[in-house]
Amino acid sequence: MTAPIEPRADLALMEGYHSPQLDVAVRLNTNEAPVPPPAAFGERVAAALGAIDWHRYPDRSYTALRMAIARLHGVAPEQVFAANGSNEVLQTLCLSYGGPGRTAAVFEPTYALHSHIARITGTTVAVGERDADFVLDVDEVRSVLAETSPAITFLCSPNNPTGMIEPEDLVRTVAAEAPGLVVVDEAYGQFAPWSALELVDGERPLVVTRTFSKTWSMAAARLGYLVGPAWLVAQLDKVVLPYHLDALKQVAGTVALVFEDEMRARVAGIVEERGRLVAALADLAVDVWPSAANFVLFRPRERSGDQVWKDLVERSVLVRNCASWPRLDGCLRVTIGTPAEDDAFLAALREVLS
Ligand code: PMP
Repeated sequence: MTAPIEPRADLALMEGYHSPQLDVAVRLNTNEAPVPPPAAFGERVAAALGAIDWHRYPDRSYTALRMAIARLHGVAPEQVFAANGSNEVLQTLCLSYGGPGRTAAVFEPTYALHSHIARITGTTVAVGERDADFVLDVDEVRSVLAETSPAITFLCSPNNPTGMIEPEDLVRTVAAEAPGLVVVDEAYGQFAPWSALELVDGERPLVVTRTFSKTWSMAAARLGYLVGPAWLVAQLDKVVLPYHLDALKQVAGTVALVFEDEMRARVAGIVEERGRLVAALADLAVDVWPSAANFVLFRPRERSGDQVWKDLVERSVLVRNCASWPRLDGCLRVTIGTPAEDDAFLAALREVLS
């Protein structure tokens, strides 16, 4: 059937973002945490729900949550902006600092939503390239900045889907030389040894985005945030829809942060498990890239990535199929799961590759 009306011309040719889900025993395709938050988290959230005034709009400024995030990072509450997933944080940034006539720079391959959200908000996308091993060269960054003068420059560290961190030197250079806003997406930040949070100050147009979806084991809640200068947060507060953070989510996020020690212990466990998985992959006929995240990118050397993905699905193991993505020819991405899930993945992969 032809649609009775057409969308905006620039949207007509765009694809939506998809991460296909299949009914399998072992799901290692969306970089979620392998285990839920502690039981005490659920009990405290349940107790707090009784105090919600359901007939009233929620606290528009999400004061308690904002203060808790600010305390976590040792910044002022005015330096924190939260939204429904870090994707909505990125969207609010693009709505505020991108838009028609402005450019956002991305360095591919990277998180697909950076360019997708930029385009949806009418922002022109300038694409810089990583080298064949997905390393970003500072000269490439400089030439993109010089040629396109982006209003927004996206970095992603650790980078999805490669898992690699951007070196501190490179982030510092971009922070010093980019003409507009620098967004460092640290959705996987707690898995990595260094954070750009130390570059955030009161003036510099640089923000670091984080999410509750991975390290905090709260993908179901849809909650993310940024830390940045207060003048920029004030701008985002104007742009985002009123009451965008519902009362339930505000409670869940605030309570989650009480369990920071448990989060750190989970992250340490995942990092250890990542080491075990990478060591096991090294014995197989695959190329593996060094990961500082909760996932690992690999490429079967002797079989097509697409076929290996299908064979894994047949064995009820789902990983992310990046094999046909630009610049990621033949690559697959596996999320670190529980030791049992990772064993199931490794056993299936050994079988498939043999
Ligand atoms: N940034 C990166 C790099 C991601 O990989 C993801 C999730 N896949 C997000 C942001 C978005 O996370 P969320 O919206 O769940 O906070």
